[in-house]
Amino acid sequence: MPHVVTRSCCNDANCVYACPVNCIHPTPDEPDFATAEMLYIDPAACVDCGACMTACPVGAIRPHSVLAPDQLPFLEINADFYKGGRDRGPVLARVPAPLEVGEAAPPRVAIVGSGPAAMYAADEILTIPGASVDLYERLPVPYGLARFGVAPDHADTRRVAGTFDVIARQDGFRLHLGVEIGRDLTHADLLASHDAVVYAVGAASDRRLDLPGADGLGTATEFVGWYNGHPDHAGHAFDLSHRRAVIIGNGNVALDVARILTLDPEDLAATDIAPAALAVLRESRIEEVVVLARRGPADSAFTSSELLGLAAAVNVAVEGDLTDPGGLDTAAARKLALLAGLTAPGPGARVVLRYRSAPTAITPDGVLIGDDLLEAGLVLSSIGYHARPVPDLPFDEATGTVPHEKGRVTGTDRTYVTGWIKRGPNGFIGTNKTCARETVRTLVADLAARVPALS
Ligand SMILES: Cc1cc2nc3c(=O)[nH]c(=O)nc-3n(C[C@H](O)[C@H](O)[C@H](O)COP(=O)(O)OP(=O)(O)OC[C@H]3O[C@@H](n4cnc5c(N)ncnc54)[C@H](O)[C@@H]3O)c2cc1C
Ligand code: SF4
Ligand code: SF4
Repeated sequence: MPHVVTRSCCNDANCVYACPVNCIHPTPDEPDFATAEMLYIDPAACVDCGACMTACPVGAIRPHSVLAPDQLPFLEINADFYKGGRDRGPVLARVPAPLEVGEAAPPRVAIVGSGPAAMYAADEILTIPGASVDLYERLPVPYGLARFGVAPDHADTRRVAGTFDVIARQDGFRLHLGVEIGRDLTHADLLASHDAVVYAVGAASDRRLDLPGADGLGTATEFVGWYNGHPDHAGHAFDLSHRRAVIIGNGNVALDVARILTLDPEDLAATDIAPAALAVLRESRIEEVVVLARRGPADSAFTSSELLGLAAAVNVAVEGDLTDPGGLDTAAARKLALLAGLTAPGPGARVVLRYRSAPTAITPDGVLIGDDLLEAGLVLSSIGYHARPVPDLPFDEATGTVPHEKGRVTGTDRTYVTGWIKRGPNGFIGTNKTCARETVRTLVADLAARVPALS
């Protein structure tokens, strides 16, 4: 009877190194790790020791025998990953080697930001005896999108903050809240007082929708920030007086927003949703949230886990052709099967996943799709995130990232990047752990190499 990874998995791979039989994959050194929607336990190899449960920061792993009804699909999802056979490598997963700075003195490192990438980078640096980190965060509250992005009803995922609290309690960790680099301190200031500077500033802007009438259109980022009490977004007002809302784009963030708009507000009352947002949601007249996608169901941008979470919480209907065209990869085929298996919506507010519906214009009355007007009071775009340029660093506007080699910023001195500003807005909270590890390894190798040159 195996253990099973469920919805809240955030890909930090802690369980990989806890497992005595290397049956959790993909591991960070396997090529499909970067694109994996989650990690999976091989039911044929799991010996049910439970070590992975203790290692998991978000309670994503459960024994098969105690799965809740809405978690049962994960039994098949985990098993499916191993269906084609998989080389599981050595009996124990390869644990990364400890960091060595050689002859160099313990480093003092400045980290800009306090989101997941910053916290994992700090944790990695603090494995070096005597090292210290100064984290500079522009907001009065730490942990970035782990605090201001993750939906309030996903309490299990939010538990990752407990891991960050433990990191923050280590010797050598100093957090400076309300300090914006580029406004309160400069890059040169940080370089003058530290051995290296790591930027983990995320990707705070939205990709903008290029459509007639879309100027000034509300975004999912603003809505998420509003319901999570983000200081930059607390003042927004959203029109929830019409019976329909439309979200353009169908990634996980779009589904989060659709779920929050259709959940019974009393179910949200027990969460740490911003009280002002809860008060507005209590007065909401929205009965239907239409999530628009340009392409077909097999190309859905959301993950299977997110869809299962949505369907477990609210009514979901699909408007699109669910015929399997054949030749789909496992993840796409699974999404299609899950969409096809959704039960007919019951009474109450519902989310409609509508496919092959590219909007052509935004009007005061809703969204034009060709000649058809989809009436709505609230229209939000949710087509992805994009970073802003970082003062004093090179910037690639096309990808919204800082050019780098394994985390070392191209053409700069002692300057590094990690997280979304390094690789773009993709992956999960735990993906930033592997990303930060690569950056810190580059930083430490550079420090060790500098000693002979300086002496
Ligand atoms: C709406 C939303 C929901 C999500 N939900 C989940 C989920 O449920 N599960 C999951 O695994 N992943 C989720 N993710 C993905 C996850 O949040 C990201 O992978 C992760 O937060 C990226 O980490 P980061 O540290 O690069 O960026 P961020 O988390 O954005 O952190 C960047 C930090 O830098 C600070 N900063 C920026 N500029 C400066 C400056 N100049 N000076 C000082 N500080 C600065 C910011 O204030 C912020 O705190 C979600 C993402 C979004 C957008
Ligand atoms: S229960 Fe034990 S054997 Fe099974 S996946 Fe977890 S750590 Fe590995
Ligand atoms: S969150 Fe981390 S420890 Fe938990 S199942 Fe996912 S990868 Fe494993």
